[in-house]
Formats: sequence, structure tokens, C-alpha cells
Amino acid sequence: MKAVVVNKEGTWMEVVEKDIRKPGYGEVLIDVEYCGVCHTDLHVAKGDFGKVPGRVLGHEGVGIVKTLGEGVTSLKVGDRVSVAWFFEGCGCCDYCNTGKETLCRTVKNAGYSVDGAMATECIATADYAVKVPDGLDPAQASSITCAGVTVYAAIKAACLKPGQWIALYGAGGLGNLAVQYAKKVFNAHVVAIDINDDKLALAKECGADIVLNGKNVDPAKYIQENIGGCHSAVVTAVSKVAFNQAIDSVRAAGKVVAVGLPSETMDVPIVKTVLDGIEIIGSLVGTRKDLAEAFQFGAEGLVTPVVTKRPITDAIDIFTELEEGKIQGRMVIDMKM
Ligand SMILES: [Zn+2]
Ligand SMILES: [Zn+2]
Repeated sequence: MKAVVVNKEGTWMEVVEKDIRKPGYGEVLIDVEYCGVCHTDLHVAKGDFGKVPGRVLGHEGVGIVKTLGEGVTSLKVGDRVSVAWFFEGCGCCDYCNTGKETLCRTVKNAGYSVDGAMATECIATADYAVKVPDGLDPAQASSITCAGVTVYAAIKAACLKPGQWIALYGAGGLGNLAVQYAKKVFNAHVVAIDINDDKLALAKECGADIVLNGKNVDPAKYIQENIGGCHSAVVTAVSKVAFNQAIDSVRAAGKVVAVGLPSETMDVPIVKTVLDGIEIIGSLVGTRKDLAEAFQFGAEGLVTPVVTKRPITDAIDIFTELEEGKIQGRMVIDMKM
């Protein structure tokens, strides 16, 4: 099979030809159709989480089950399934059994601690490969597998209610989907904030009520003066400034949900946090249940990821463009191209 793997030095990626093993007990072999390219893949390839030379990248995989390993009862040959960052939990700890499985301390992550889906074939644990519903375009599903479910779970963590206001900091690959879920699924009012006008134009097209360029206006000041503060904020921007502005954007009892991962600290004003009863919540991808829900809203046409299909031979170029911030929406590798 063809695969995008971390190079021998553990510092970048390369496209190679390699063999795949047979699926073991409880596993399935998947014919991958599409795999999205995510910033997390870039971190893995560059060794930011520790070097993993030879690892097959990819955690936004969608494909068709080709072979069943022994003992598989939850899937059958021909099912369309996904391979997500949350590849497998232990299944028996407090987190796994209380709806917080992504926090399992012995979690396996696709394309990082186990081989992922950025390849023409991959192996997944059957019970953890969430089915893609009929009616959902598989290339779009690959984007929901990571970006979509991440923002959907973050908005759930924000307890967003219909008619409320949410500030979405970052209007890139994740932010764009956040606008759609907040608007179409949660029926909320949306303020999208970014420092890139192209991304804001896309946010507006996707339904944002207000778009603000943080370079031209102080978004927190604007939101407090014009809306009286948002009920919640979700930050997908990889910037400390955005996190600080998000805290200043919410009204009393507001919730700030952290998703982006800048390697910095945020400044939390203790007085505002206490007197206004602000909550700051971290949210990491989503559970299998979250993903099934996020897929279903896509299948119902409420959320449409903006994806561009590229061949696997473009993989290195895509990562370079991603690193340079040149990507709009989501790049998805089409394994049949
Ligand atoms: Zn991802
Ligand atoms: Zn567990």
C-alpha cells in the first residue's frame, strides 16, 4: 500500500510503499477512501509530541471495511467507517465508563501511538471505528471525523442554547465548522473572530451573524458593547491573544472552551472569574457518541465541510502549505486519485 509516514529522523513526512499486516482479533482492515490532513499530523511528523519515525500518519480516515478479523460482531464487510484521533480507549476505566473516553489514560491515538489512516489501507479496532451514515459524502465525513467532532463536542461543553450568543475565536478549518454547528444545529447567534479576512468571509458565508477582524477591532470590547457579552466562547485559534480575548468576551456565568493548542499560558483575571462566575473548560476531540451525532447532522445537510481533494502524491506539498498557513477549509487526500 501507499502511505504517508514520519521519516526515519522523526522530523517530517514521506510517501512510501509498504505492506500491511492482517487484522487481528477484534480488528478490521479498511480500504481507505479519504483522509483529511490536520495540524495535529504536522505536530506528530515534526516530533512535537515525541519522535515517532515510521508511523503512518492520519486520523481523519474514512473507508470501507474490507476484511474482518476474528471476533468482530459490530461491523460487516462493506460498512463505511471512520478512523479518528481517539482510536481506542481501555474500555474499563472511570473515564471510559462515564462518557469521557477521550480522557482515558491509556488511550491510543491514530497516526501517533498507532498507525493511522493516511494510507490506501489501514487497520482499526472494530468497536471503535464509528460508522459513517448513508447520505454523508465520505470526503466531507473525513473532515467531521476530527475538525467537526472537535468543535461539536466543544460547543456541547459550552452548554450552548438556542438563541444564545457564542464567540468563535479562529475561523480556519475548525472554526468554519464551528460556525455551522453553532448556527444550524444549536440555533445560536455567532460572532466569528479571526485575523484573516478570507477566513472571515467564509465564516460569513457559513452563517456567522457578526465577523470581527482582531487586527482592526478589539473583539472583546466590541462584543461587550454591542451584545452585552457572549454566553460562551470556543477558541480554536492557536494564539494566546485569542484565549485572553475570549475570557473578556463572555458575560457573567459565561463559559470559555479551550480547543486550540498554543504552547503558552493564558491570563486568567481572578476577580472576573470569581465575581462573574466564569468557567474555563478544556475540550479534546469527541467520544464515539459525539462523532456519530456530528456525522448525522452532516448527513442531514445541516453542516457541510469545505473540502478540497488532493492525491496522496501531493502530501508533502499539503503539509508545507499547512505549515505556511495557506490552507482554506480542509485538504483531504483522495486515495483513489
Ligand atoms: Zn485532526
Ligand atoms: Zn479507559
